[in-house]
Amino acid sequence: MPFVDLPKAPHVVLANATLPAVAVEGFSAAPEEGLVFADLVIANGRIDAILPAGTAPVALPRADLRQGMVWPCFVDMHTHLDKGHIWERRRNPDGSFMGALDNVREDRTARWSAEDVRARMEFSLKTAYAHGTRLIRTHLDSIPPQHGISFEVFSEMREAWQDRIALQAVALLPLESVLDPAAFGDIVAVTKRHGGLLGGATRILPDFEAILETLFRAAEDNGLNIDLHVDETEDRQVLTLKTIAEMKLKTGFAGSVTVGHCCSLARQEDDLAKRTIDLVAEAGLSVVSLPMCNMYLQDRHAGRTPRWRGVTLFHELAAAGVRTAVASDNTRDPFYAYGDLDGVEVFREAVRILHLDHPLDTAARVVTTTPADILGRPDIGRIKAGGPADLVLFSARRWSEFLSRPQADRIVMRNGMGIDRRLPDYRDLDPLMTK
Ligand SMILES: [Zn+2]
Repeated sequence: MPFVDLPKAPHVVLANATLPAVAVEGFSAAPEEGLVFADLVIANGRIDAILPAGTAPVALPRADLRQGMVWPCFVDMHTHLDKGHIWERRRNPDGSFMGALDNVREDRTARWSAEDVRARMEFSLKTAYAHGTRLIRTHLDSIPPQHGISFEVFSEMREAWQDRIALQAVALLPLESVLDPAAFGDIVAVTKRHGGLLGGATRILPDFEAILETLFRAAEDNGLNIDLHVDETEDRQVLTLKTIAEMKLKTGFAGSVTVGHCCSLARQEDDLAKRTIDLVAEAGLSVVSLPMCNMYLQDRHAGRTPRWRGVTLFHELAAAGVRTAVASDNTRDPFYAYGDLDGVEVFREAVRILHLDHPLDTAARVVTTTPADILGRPDIGRIKAGGPADLVLFSARRWSEFLSRPQADRIVMRNGMGIDRRLPDYRDLDPLMTK
């Protein structure tokens, strides 16, 4: 049962709404812990006006939200739609990082036909859409010959879903292949053809600097942006983040560089951490933290209780002026057994794991405005007059109400109309799950 009935009319008022101020443009009011109160006038699928609460024209049909929150649709800037939902056929027996790598490789080489990838991607997109997500970036395992298959399917999906979810893809390529001109050239060509980005997972490699420089030069030459998995480890010897920042400065790379995870930064001595963060800020890198996956994979040792949360130095990076966001990462695959591409869950868990609260003033930006900006889509993830009425409506009025329940009764509005929020049934995946 929806908590409020939306009038079926092209011109309506969402009255007495509570908005996260950080995600609202062109409306000023004094926020209370980051929340402001307003009436939203919707006309022909767009936000026509944002007015002080209680002042919208009374003649219009209205839904009285009784202070329920209204958010812009979510941005999930780091996912793995190609891996999603393989858990039932390929688990991670010990929940470790190596267990994840090995089992994904087995599953990929044996099972990832276009048909298989397409069906699981479709399931994920249906789920994300029903939860209220508008923009997703996915990494695609790009170990030949998989890159050809997955990018082809991805392009198909991007086209089919363009009115519902905007999609971006990163080639998660094996960094050892960067110094092999034929293999790397092919991955770059496929990525470019499909409008993707270059990526990979950094670790300590003998030729790491040469690899990184070649990657940056290829990105520059082909007009591609970069999005890397960085230092997803508790090993304090590993700090490729510093080298990445230095390489961006050295090459003068003009594109955008996003770094995900950066777990081992939190394991450094204060001095080194500070110097690295300053370099990251100077180089203009954007950082995405994946708190749910980090909690799951980091500091996991059989029979031993984890002692650290695995997340990067989120507050320190943000304080240094670095653009910081959070995202889902994996969903129901060997890297993370759970997850549902739900912006509310990602936000709720991020608040708890990263202590984004007390106060929550601007915290809502981490799944809305900031990731939209990092992804080059400043038109998404905010509420503004003239923008599309792509909104998520909640019964919850205040932060504690919002963060205490899963918000399963939310209403997702796209272009001013409530959508069918039914989630796809896991049973739909059964034909793909035979062992
Ligand atoms: Zn990832």
